[in-house]
Amino acid sequence: MTYQIKKAAVLGSGVMGSGIAAHLANIGIPVLLLDIVPNKLTTDEEAKGLTLEDSQVRNKIAAGAKQKLLKQKPSPLTTKSSLSLIETGNFEDDLAMLKDVDWIIEVIVENLDVKKGLYEKIDAVRKPGTIISSNTSGISIEAMAEGRTEDFQKHFLGTHFFNPPRYLKLLEIIPASTTDAGVVDFMTAFGEDRLGKGVVIAKDTPNFIANRIGTYGLLVTLREMEKRGYSIGEVDSVTGTLIGRPKSATFRTLDVVGLDTFMHVAKNAYDKTEGEEQKVFELPAFMKTMIDNGWIGAKAKQGFFLKK
Ligand code: NAD
Repeated sequence: MTYQIKKAAVLGSGVMGSGIAAHLANIGIPVLLLDIVPNKLTTDEEAKGLTLEDSQVRNKIAAGAKQKLLKQKPSPLTTKSSLSLIETGNFEDDLAMLKDVDWIIEVIVENLDVKKGLYEKIDAVRKPGTIISSNTSGISIEAMAEGRTEDFQKHFLGTHFFNPPRYLKLLEIIPASTTDAGVVDFMTAFGEDRLGKGVVIAKDTPNFIANRIGTYGLLVTLREMEKRGYSIGEVDSVTGTLIGRPKSATFRTLDVVGLDTFMHVAKNAYDKTEGEEQKVFELPAFMKTMIDNGWIGAKAKQGFFLKK
């Protein structure tokens, strides 16, 4: 079978989903960007007498995502004209539109059951032969495809983008044992030639390659920091700006990734390891406290650094 991606759908308009949608739009691929419907009204909306059924409210998340794309500056990729290629909507009303796309990328919360629940709905509306991929940071691709139709399983794989998707070149492609080899070959070529990425094919093992090494290294760094009394500023200096890596200092990276997402990724590895190795994947107590307080990074405007 020959594949072609003329239109894509990105499911989830958070940190990664909005960035991936912007990247696709900027290479000229029309994108449908969907997310959940908000389940409560803001005080303003209540005062206006709106209900959750009002279309204005139902499309709030998608509209918010579009605004976020506009603010994504400076970016060599996001332009006003490419924004017109992004159509927004929500899972409840617009899932049937997935029948018109050639590639569906799932970019929702890092939770196996939640992702599987969405795949069941996708499987009921997609056309046969549509490629479906997950941006999961490390959940088993095989486990996510379990219970789905044979056609879904043949066309399902991991496509793991890195944050921010418009700048970072790495794309991990993770086939499951059920993924058709033709789909892997096509997505590898598409990733390199159209998305402009450097593709690494990873085995379907917990956290794949980048997050297995990355999470381990980061958590060891945090333990050493606590044990030896280093400050956040010191660690970020020696892992960031002062050695020429302005975007990748330890704590700034955690803020950009989101501490909640990092917690899920660390847990993926924790649940699949044991003994001494497992201990490394346990979150330090101070990070659990931050998450309990909602200080989960840039998206909450407060993490290790305040974002004004
Ligand atoms: P995020 O928290 O910014 O966004 C998650 C989105 O999922 C939100 O828009 C939310 O509305 C939606 N969502 C939440 N619960 C849902 C549900 N029950 N059903 C459907 N949608 C729901 O998360 P993110 O950082 O964009 O991460 C999304 C995926 O990408 C995760 O699998 C994550 O592991 C992976 N990822 C994240 C990063 C990163 O740096 N943050 C990097 C690579 C991969």
